[in-house]
Amino acid sequence: MIRRFFSYYRPYTKLFVLDFASAVVAALLELSFPLAVKSIVDNLLPGKDWSLILWACVGLLLMYLGSTGLQFVVTYWGHKLGINIEYDMRRQLFGHIQKLSFRFFDNNKTGHLMSRLTNDLFEIGEMAHHGPEDVFIAVMTLLGAFTMMLFINWKLACLTFLIVPLLIWLVVVCNLKLVKAAKQMFTDIADVNAQVEDSVTGIRVVQTFTNEAHEMDKFTVSNSNYRRAKLHSYRIIAFSSSGMYLLMRLISLFVLLCGAWFVVRGQLSYGEFVGFLLLINIFFKPIEKINAFLESYPKGMAGFKRFLEVLDTEPDVADRPDAIEVRSLRGDIAFQGVTFGYEDHAKVLQSVDLTIRAGETIAFVGPSGAGKTTLCSLLPRFYEIEAGSITIDGMNIRAMTLASLRGHIGIVQQEVFLFSGTLRENIVYGKLGATEAEIWDAARRARLEEFVRSLPLGLDTLVGDRGVKLSGGQKQRLAIARMFLKNPPILILDEATSALDTETEAAIQQSLAELAVGRTTLVIAHRLATIRSADRIVVVTEQGVTEQGRHEELVASGGVYSRLHRAQFGT
Ligand code: ADP
Ligand code: MG
Repeated sequence: MIRRFFSYYRPYTKLFVLDFASAVVAALLELSFPLAVKSIVDNLLPGKDWSLILWACVGLLLMYLGSTGLQFVVTYWGHKLGINIEYDMRRQLFGHIQKLSFRFFDNNKTGHLMSRLTNDLFEIGEMAHHGPEDVFIAVMTLLGAFTMMLFINWKLACLTFLIVPLLIWLVVVCNLKLVKAAKQMFTDIADVNAQVEDSVTGIRVVQTFTNEAHEMDKFTVSNSNYRRAKLHSYRIIAFSSSGMYLLMRLISLFVLLCGAWFVVRGQLSYGEFVGFLLLINIFFKPIEKINAFLESYPKGMAGFKRFLEVLDTEPDVADRPDAIEVRSLRGDIAFQGVTFGYEDHAKVLQSVDLTIRAGETIAFVGPSGAGKTTLCSLLPRFYEIEAGSITIDGMNIRAMTLASLRGHIGIVQQEVFLFSGTLRENIVYGKLGATEAEIWDAARRARLEEFVRSLPLGLDTLVGDRGVKLSGGQKQRLAIARMFLKNPPILILDEATSALDTETEAAIQQSLAELAVGRTTLVIAHRLATIRSADRIVVVTEQGVTEQGRHEELVASGGVYSRLHRAQFGT
């Protein structure tokens, strides 16, 4: 996993080297200050040569300026590195999520995914720039300071290091606890996000049932869980940082006392004493850095693990390596022995056989939950079938690339999804890059033109949350306009008008009928009136395809269809 993490640094090797080198030089400069001060005190002070002392101070000033510059480089470029890595990962994850199959989204909450794209990646970014070089420099500085302290006075150095293990113990123990706390925090914030997502997308349902208080209660649970987890982790952080502070002051005090004792006994010069005190403080800084890293490491790694979890999820449905890009399809469809279930134990479709001729309009009717939508969603390969085969123009759909297969199929559903943006952007979704004339033509054929012209901003009117609200009928017209632009040879209308009132439905039916001309059309309908003229009607029940034929034949045969028909029309 670590190796994989570092692979994200590869594009930024130069940046990394620059950052790293600056940090090393800054650390070396830092280490040389105490030595410089020591020699000023010991060598220059007794001579009382002011010009020399002044020159030494100018030298020190230059060193300070140099290390300030390096500090800037490390802070800015180091963060740039982290930000770039975060950007790359977010891009990669987003791209991957786009490719995942319907099954993945059936099983994963949107809120959890959002959390991965924002929160988790933020933590990974934090780790990426506080990460490797900080630790390396810290260890180097520690070793450097340690050597110099030994070099100045080994007895005092050894005494000092009697207490240091205590500090290390504190850091390690606290961080082990933090790892656990961080994991909990991630789970909890993801829950909060999922809850927000649920309640906000379902707000209309919530308010209709006036269940705001109930939603608030549910939210309060996840929100308090998150608060508890966060508080817990900050308790650990507070304990470790104050504990560290105390230990460091104790060590300083201890060195002051012992050093003074050595000075009095003539075993330590004043310069060495001052140098030693400065070194002790330098010594603490890397420990704080390592501590900070150990704090961000578990969060970052937990985030990275979750990032990899999604990234390593293979799409259930993907192009075969030898998949063919189909150029054109007529639309002869054949289902042969098709078996499919969302879960292993429950089959929704059991060896379904069905042939549809190119250009035919075929209607599916039957009780809800029978599997009509499922049957149609197998054609664009939203799900992979378990047994049997589906062919279009005699070619197995698995032998085609997903893009070319789906490029030949259009679906209009009951619920039309509008992207936030303009009307134009929403219509052009059917064919990105369509010309202005094509867009208007599609709008005209979908009978949307008049409405668009009535708007002051026309096609540039914003829709959705920040713009005009479209009625159900207008949304369907927009979906139809998209379809005219896409112009697919195969069309699926899945209860496209079921949510509309009968008058609007009748009007939209006309547009749909025009849309269906010259295409193989699969219509799922709830109201039988809308499908009477279909070339063939297929009755789907839990038992599978039980009847098929023309309207009159089915009514005459006295089966399920005639019963449904009688229920709706009373004849
Ligand atoms: P219809 O369109 O005929 O009303 P569907 O094809 O939507 O029926 O559903 C058929 C069966 O499959 C139902 O029992 C339904 O609960 C189940 N089902 C539909 N979609 C999913 C899904 N995404 N995940 C799991 N089960 C599903
Ligand atoms: Mg359905």
